[in-house]
Amino acid sequence: MNKEKRIDFIVHGVAASAGVAFGKAFVFQEDVYNIEKRTVLLEFRSQEKKRLEKAFEDTKADIEVAHIKLNSELGKDYARIIDAHLLMLEDPDFKKDVFKFISEGDNAEYAVHKVINKITASFETIKDDYFKERIHDIRDVGEKIIDNLLGKKKESFSNLQEGCIVVAHNLTPAETISIREKKIKGFATDIGGKTSHTAIVAQGLAIPAVTGLRNIASIVCSGDEIIINGNKGIAILNPSNETIDIYKKELDIELNEKKELENLKKFVSVTIDNHKVGILANIDDPGEAKVASDNGAEGIGLYRTEFMYFNREVMPVEKEHFEKYCEVANQMSDLPIIIRTIDLGGDKLAKLGLLDSTQEKNPFMGLRAIRLCLKYPKIFRAQLKGILMASAFGDIRIMYPMISGIEELRAANKILEQVKKELKTENVAFNENIKIGVMIEIPSAVLIARELAKEVDFVSIGTNDLIQYSLAVDRVNENVANLYDPLHPSILRFIKKIIDDAHAEGVKVSVCGEMAADTRYTGILLGFGLDEFSVVPSRVLKIKKTIRGLSFEKSQEMVLEILKSSEKQQILDAVDRFNEEFKCLN
Ligand code: PEP
Ligand code: MG
Repeated sequence: MNKEKRIDFIVHGVAASAGVAFGKAFVFQEDVYNIEKRTVLLEFRSQEKKRLEKAFEDTKADIEVAHIKLNSELGKDYARIIDAHLLMLEDPDFKKDVFKFISEGDNAEYAVHKVINKITASFETIKDDYFKERIHDIRDVGEKIIDNLLGKKKESFSNLQEGCIVVAHNLTPAETISIREKKIKGFATDIGGKTSHTAIVAQGLAIPAVTGLRNIASIVCSGDEIIINGNKGIAILNPSNETIDIYKKELDIELNEKKELENLKKFVSVTIDNHKVGILANIDDPGEAKVASDNGAEGIGLYRTEFMYFNREVMPVEKEHFEKYCEVANQMSDLPIIIRTIDLGGDKLAKLGLLDSTQEKNPFMGLRAIRLCLKYPKIFRAQLKGILMASAFGDIRIMYPMISGIEELRAANKILEQVKKELKTENVAFNENIKIGVMIEIPSAVLIARELAKEVDFVSIGTNDLIQYSLAVDRVNENVANLYDPLHPSILRFIKKIIDDAHAEGVKVSVCGEMAADTRYTGILLGFGLDEFSVVPSRVLKIKKTIRGLSFEKSQEMVLEILKSSEKQQILDAVDRFNEEFKCLN
């Protein structure tokens, strides 16, 4: 039962992924240990110590395996990162302290927990940042020992029932994808905005999600009934029968619309005045390529490869990259597949030893995407090699994310050339003329779009980040979600500039940010002269339907009008008038 018992209790949040869902809540408890304290009787204390010894041995073995893997894949410099874990585990004082608490009657888990807390508390008073950072290592080791004592690898979603609605304070993209197989109906979270990666994953799965609900996880209990309205950004707790009926009708309408959209598969994406644009799909897993092609996508406009790095302990090697990309190539036949090199960092945090941006104070401005690849070329090379090898089996292209200046593009290309050379000496087949593109998602790149376009084959606008970085609005922070505005005059002018600059160099432009998937903005992007829309597979047909109802000429007239204005209301009025005339409702 809800702690809040109000019937039809509406909580407002951010409409993160379209659609409505009704079902029972599964409240996901975050991965924090609630260590149980038990008193161990005197006669069982030596047994408890043996249990601890065994957990230490298992933990040591786990760390050694990770060390060997890291060493062979990345070299000894990277492997050294986890040497600190081994040192701590073998520290006789550490074990002595834990034994002492067991001798006093604590159970082993609680004794480890106490010692870890004691050590980290003493580190917290140290001013040196390096030592402070070691707190994470200490906690990691403690967690590993406790995992082994409890005989478990954390499986927070193991009790998840199919058909429920997951309610959580926060879901990392890694957690979201780990439940992708579970066939859940929707997500509701306390935090997050419309373009957080959790929202994007939900869109990819075509399930409704509402984020930024602030305290939903604390007022809902597992088993409570809940409605998620991802179109309006609300959750309704304890829905009455009347409300359930209304939502059932809405679900029927959605299902009918889906069927209607199916009929569009065989038609091209052309406006009423015969202007053709491309509609491609964004994916983050090879499995989604099937959905993309089933929905008639004309290629993959963005393959977010960083998802491959989540929920694992070792880096993917080139063979794994190769296999994943070939899987997509098999699915898409000769259609283009744009593989974006890893964009780890920001809210896509992987914890693979060195790749742990949770430790950065401002990860969106930190070691993210191409910056990380250029800093750790070994990781980058493994991916580039996998992509090149796969390029012999399909129209595979490479796209670099987060490019802020021409030097980064050249540095990335230099590494690519080295990898090509390597493959040649190894006699491995690949496409020597593989197409290269950049994402434009940072204002500095917008201002040099023309120069960038001279050196690439295609350009893709990442509006999710472009809006975040231009307006200084954190894309995952619900407190500023109202300021995250694709219609801000500066954003509109940026997009127009990128398209014009790229076209001046004969280079095609796509938008792969969420703006491309929102039908309220289709007319604007069309009017700017955008060549391709790249959207989650579940939106391909909806965007196609919208384009087929639009006039290119009228779109061009509308954008001329909005580009003249610097006032939000005027822009909004002009866009609303246009969308009403052409029935572009999201
Ligand atoms: C974007 O920024 O618009 C984009 C498509 O990339 P991501 O959402 O993965 O940052
Ligand atoms: Mg981006």
